[in-house]
Amino acid sequence: MRITKNRASNIWYPFTQMKTAPEPLRIKSGKGAVLETEDGKKILDCISSWWVTIHGHGNARISEAIYKQALQLEHVIFPGCIHDPAEKLANKLVEILPDSLCKVFFVDNGATAVEVALKQAFQYWQNVGKGHRKRFLCFENSYHGDTLGAMSLGSRSIFNKPFESLLFDATFAPFPATFIDDPHVDKKERDSLNFIEKELSKPDHSYAGILVEPLVQGAGGMKMCRPQFLKELQKLAHAYDALLIYDEVMTGFGRTGEWFACKGSGTCPDIICLSKGLTGGFLPLAVTVSNQKIYDSFYSDDPSKLLFHSHSYTANPLGCIAACESIAMLEEKEEFRGLQEKMEQQVKRFKATPKVQDLRVCGTILAMDIKTKAPGYFSKIGPRLRALLLEQGLLTRPIGNVVYFMPPYCVADEQLELMFTGLENALEHL
Ligand SMILES: *Cc1c(COP(=O)(O)O)cnc(C)c1O
Repeated sequence: MRITKNRASNIWYPFTQMKTAPEPLRIKSGKGAVLETEDGKKILDCISSWWVTIHGHGNARISEAIYKQALQLEHVIFPGCIHDPAEKLANKLVEILPDSLCKVFFVDNGATAVEVALKQAFQYWQNVGKGHRKRFLCFENSYHGDTLGAMSLGSRSIFNKPFESLLFDATFAPFPATFIDDPHVDKKERDSLNFIEKELSKPDHSYAGILVEPLVQGAGGMKMCRPQFLKELQKLAHAYDALLIYDEVMTGFGRTGEWFACKGSGTCPDIICLSKGLTGGFLPLAVTVSNQKIYDSFYSDDPSKLLFHSHSYTANPLGCIAACESIAMLEEKEEFRGLQEKMEQQVKRFKATPKVQDLRVCGTILAMDIKTKAPGYFSKIGPRLRALLLEQGLLTRPIGNVVYFMPPYCVADEQLELMFTGLENALEHL
């Protein structure tokens, strides 16, 4: 047995093959879009630290709000107690979400927000006496988190292969991923919708709901769909009485150029999952927000109809106050709108680059595929590109041969310029 005990190796990293992983960067501090390593190197955070940091690192207003709240009340059991931060946050979320989304359930992270949505949808049908509605429809290439339920509805791959026999069965529809000047987008959307309608139109179908990452599939490679696809999807969900569930864990809070992808696409789900940008990237907090219809099905004198779910840190006041402050800042400036325009400008400079294809922008996210004979998550291009960009002080995390940029909204024009000249340089050396 090999026992390694030292400063660096008592940690088991997520999504990391410890044997072959490069040395982690030792980060000491962060300010705005810039991280600083222990040895004084400055690195631009081009991916908002895995898509969570929206106002930048070390934000003073959020930090102070957390500090003040911690001195007053750091935490309290939530069933049976209420506190201002939770109440304030729930009211604010209901105000900024589409009108019908009105019941806020607190959890800790994106995966559990999805778990709660699935449990709500599943139990909803039992509560209304249609317990045969047990199945979920989701999308190829999707990602919803790493707990078992969320994994069950994520596309099957090497990431969940060891757990395959633990996962429940679901139906995977094709996702009509598109890009700038895509000649086949109409057909892809039709094929997907036809597939879904065929499933839902089976007599007395067994679908409880449809789960989708609206507008952008994140971990699946920043694959983007058009808003009109979501409009058609919503029509099908309504026509065949299946619940529509939006996983906006990544797309929420301005990422797609609007406050939420549902608003940007003019659609509205029955249940929405939010996390990542919720606290501005400061603390782990998530919510599952549902409409009155779902809530009412649980509202009963019958204890068996209550929602059986909770976590120790449910509605943690520090997380709630961070979220309130982050949302207040977002409301003041809506910086994501300006960033969207800049991203649309930047993408043009890669149009004539022979090494890339499928250029795409959605709000503050710019992505492209690097041409290769062997695409996919384990493409060697990913680590190579990451290293070439890091040499230039740029922190990225390509998904196989897909490279994307989604910086904090506070990113300065000069920093954007550094990012994209850095990418041009890296592409030359590939
Ligand atoms: C990141 C992500 C999740 C999982 O969130 P965690 O907080 O990492 O559990 C779920 N869905 C989407 C779309 C995500 O991007």
